[in-house]
Parts: sequence; C-alpha cells; structure tokens
Amino acid sequence: MIKQIKNVTVYAPECLGTMDVLIAGGKICQIGKDLELGQNVGVEIIDGTGKCLVPGFIDSHEHIMGGGGEGGFATRTPEATLTDLTTFGITTVVGCIGTDGIGRDMTALLAKAKGLEEEGISTFVYTGSYQVPVHTLTDSLMKDIMMLDKVIGVGEIAISDHRSSQPTFEEFIRIAADSRVGGMLSGKAGILNIHLGDSPRCIDLIERTVEETEIPKSQFLPTHINRNAMLFERCLAYAKDGGFVDFTGNEDIDYWETICDEVRVCTGIKRMLDEGVSSDQFTISSDGQGSLPIFNEKQEFVGIGIGKGSCLLKEVRECVKKAEIPLEIAIKAITSNPARILKLKGKGRIEEGYDADLCLLNAEDLIIDTVIAKGKVMVKEGKPIVFGTFEKPKAD
Ligand code: ZN
Repeated sequence: MIKQIKNVTVYAPECLGTMDVLIAGGKICQIGKDLELGQNVGVEIIDGTGKCLVPGFIDSHEHIMGGGGEGGFATRTPEATLTDLTTFGITTVVGCIGTDGIGRDMTALLAKAKGLEEEGISTFVYTGSYQVPVHTLTDSLMKDIMMLDKVIGVGEIAISDHRSSQPTFEEFIRIAADSRVGGMLSGKAGILNIHLGDSPRCIDLIERTVEETEIPKSQFLPTHINRNAMLFERCLAYAKDGGFVDFTGNEDIDYWETICDEVRVCTGIKRMLDEGVSSDQFTISSDGQGSLPIFNEKQEFVGIGIGKGSCLLKEVRECVKKAEIPLEIAIKAITSNPARILKLKGKGRIEEGYDADLCLLNAEDLIIDTVIAKGKVMVKEGKPIVFGTFEKPKAD
C-alpha cells in the first residue's frame, strides 16, 4: 500500500520544512509540498501535523544475540527481540559479539541477523569478537567481509582493556589491513569497530597505526569513547584531527557519571562541536543487550546491568533539551553519520530513492509516535504493532 505522511516537519537530517512524504515499495518516492495523488489510488494517510519526521535510527553496535557472561554463565545476556529495537526507533542494526567469542560465534550471529531481517528491519554484522586472532566464519576475515553480504567490517576488537586479547602492534595492523582491503574489494566500509577499555593506553594502538602505516583514520570507528574523562579527552583530540568516534549511550548515566567518571553523551558532543569537530564525525550506539558489569575500585565484579536500545533517542533528546544542540545536528549521530561511515547504501537519510526507514516524533517532547521500516509501520502511537516470531503483544 502507498503511504503518504502529510504536513510533517522533515529533518533529512537537515530541516526541509513542512512537507508531504510519499512511500511505496519500501522506498521514499517523493518529498514535496501538498502532494495530490490521482483518483482511484489506494493511499494510507499518516497525519504528521505537530510531528517531526527523521530517518530511522541506525545502531552501529548492538549485541543482538546477547553478550556478557563476564560473571559466569548465568550472566550471559538475552538476545534482542524485534521490538527491543523497533520500539525505540531502530530500523537498522549492526550486530557484534563481545567478550565471549567461544560461547557465541559468527554462525550464530549471522543467523540472528538474518532472523531480524526476516522480521522486518535491516541488519548487518561485524566479524569477530574481542579476541585476536579474529574468530571468523570462513577461513579469513577478508573473505568474511568480501563474500558475506551482511559483514561490513571487523569488531568489536578489544584494546586497552583487561578483557582484551592484548594484540601486539603487528597483529593489530594486520587486522586493519585485511579489513581495509576486504572492504575495498567488495565496495564496503571494511570498518574496524574497536572496543576501548578504561586503561591509560586509550587509543595508542589506533594512533600508532595511523602514524606508522598507510592505513587512514577513516578505517576505524572506536567505541565507548565516553567511558571515562581521560579516554574522552584523547578521543576528542583524535576527532579534532579528523577521526570518527562513537559514543555509547547510557540510560543510567546519573549513576555512571558519578561513580565511574563516564562522560554524558550530550556533554561530550557539545564539547566536540565547541572545539571545532565536524558534526559529521561522531555517532552514538547503544551497546544494547551487552552486559554492563559493575566493578569496585579493586576491579572486583559486584553487579550487572544490561544495555538498551532506548538510549539512542534519549541521548539525542538530551542533546537538544539539555545541551541546546539543534535536532538536525544531534540526529545525525544516529542516522546519516553511521550510514555514511559504515557505507550503508540507501540508509540514514530522507531522500527520494532511499529506503523508507522513518521515525515520526512528537515535535514537543521528541517521543516516538510511529516507526516505519522498509515501508512497513512497525510502531504506531508509541506501541509496537509488528512483533517478532515468538513475541506476544503486551496487553495494556
Ligand atoms: Zn564493547
């Protein structure tokens, strides 16, 4: 069925003003003022009055088949269901494994990604886990990237962390080189999604790679950059010098900000913009379904939380409401920026010919009203109407 979203303020992400947006065949067909369709054409009208239309969100780092396990087997986190994503506006997700690359592997990750795609959203994955050598699906990471459609890069490789495989410089640059060439040969980003831990070595390995080899900064998307103040300052300098950086959203930031020195996303993005970093260079991801192990000062495990996809829009809302960053800038961090950095074709923008992945937000409070993935309405009036295979609609 053709859909027409009428009279809505469009953020493409740049603000286009009040428009009508026509959707058919899963694509955005036309954007214009007061579009009139001919008679005898079946059209579903969605009233956009008092709402903003933004691209569907892209979560560039989510543990879709669960992660964790750092406190023993009972602490392995559950898989993401379809509505764990769509309810919060996520229409494209990049899945990753995490610390446990033994109990979970690439075959299972790819199967999970295919399942979510069949249920209606767009999915991609990174090959590998924290570990080095990288555990791949085929016999090489270059082959994984070249020959498996959903594999867009390698990650999350852990560095500067007590849970890392502690890759040597030579091991690290070989991974970067193979990922780059695998990406080039298949028209993909071949990005390295690098998990940053909280040690003082921060991004040493990435900086040394860029200085001593021909591999450019654009090959890396380091994540968790706001884990602590020291790491954030290093990553701010790295971004000022042209690097891409990924903030991790956090629903419980009030706790983490005081106990763990974590940098609030809106504060970090404001700093970056004030210091001249381009608004094209940063992304926000959720680390959804990942475990949030809580350690005491002696690095002893004392408790566990779980990441949620809901933090993406929450962080954008804080950018707008708390840090007074315009919506058209803040929203880039979860739409056009990850799409461009990860080379996700047809994603992250409201533009004719692009996939009809869209979120309709209440203009006043930036709360989700409607979520559309590949032309299909998944969430209506804030509630999911399409469910994963084994999900049951929740009674009001
Ligand atoms: Zn991580």
